[in-house]
Amino acid sequence: MQQGRVLKAHGGYFFVYDATTDKVYQSKIRGRLKQRDVEVIAGDKVKFAILNDGSGIVEERLPRENSLFRPPIANVEQVVITVSISNPDLHFKLLDRLLILGRAADLEIVICVNKIDLVGIKKARKIMEYYKEIGYNILYTSAEEEINLGQLEEVLQDKISVFAGPSGVGKSSLLNAIQPDLKLRTGKVSDKIKRGRHTTRKVELLSLDRGGWVADTPGFSALDITFIRSRELHYFFVEMLNYINQCKFSSCSHSHEPQCAVKEAVDNGNIAQHRYDHYLEFLSEIEEKEAEW
Ligand code: GDP
Ligand code: ZN
Repeated sequence: MQQGRVLKAHGGYFFVYDATTDKVYQSKIRGRLKQRDVEVIAGDKVKFAILNDGSGIVEERLPRENSLFRPPIANVEQVVITVSISNPDLHFKLLDRLLILGRAADLEIVICVNKIDLVGIKKARKIMEYYKEIGYNILYTSAEEEINLGQLEEVLQDKISVFAGPSGVGKSSLLNAIQPDLKLRTGKVSDKIKRGRHTTRKVELLSLDRGGWVADTPGFSALDITFIRSRELHYFFVEMLNYINQCKFSSCSHSHEPQCAVKEAVDNGNIAQHRYDHYLEFLSEIEEKEAEW
């Protein structure tokens, strides 16, 4: 039996890539997997057999490292959170939400600030300075003027990545700029058709010439973070980790309690005010949801 990775699941067929033969096998799935409700999605590692007619049959799904929901993709390693400073304007709250989602899915995170031809790299760096300080890996690119695309290629090499970020920041343009044939090969990367809210998207993993895979559909289209528990939210703000054990109360939520080390760090300028504000906003989103139970 062979081992492979599902690149796309569509209409009862699974397109399974086998690295040893460098081939994609159009495959069906064993009935008993269906009966046991074993769901197989893009990114899944599977065991499969090759039939006489050259097609495949999926016999087993291997354990998942993780899986993203909406769009569904398994075993993603990295998210490239893409933003622009202008056109569209940078939304720090959305960025912070995506950073939480990336961390919650246990992905490596790269922030890609695109369209730097519009604002200049110096200004962009200044705006992103804080995120650099708290440890994020940040790229400054222009798909239009082909700036720093080599750095993006390097980051994508040999990994399974997904792009995320607001529409219009240049996610598809970046992919097309680093590998123009991706678009031709799939015709989907620049697909701008508005899909209905409940339509399932068919995600496809695209192969990069330098090695690695990238999903043709942005990840994290559902921006809900209320699956995180309120007492755990502070773990998702990396710069808070240094302070959360120094609060007077071990159960401190860093909102109303006295002698809160997090609030002191905000007052001293060690934690950015906007990050703390977003923490509080997310906290109340989560608490509202928890109160419903
Ligand atoms: P997506 O929704 O994130 O996939 O964004 P698109 O790739 O569709 O790009 C949205 C618009 O921004 C298009 O008109 C692109 O031509 C433009 N665009 C993409 N990258 C850049 C860039 O680096 N600089 C500038 N000035 N425009 C860009
Ligand atoms: Zn506190």
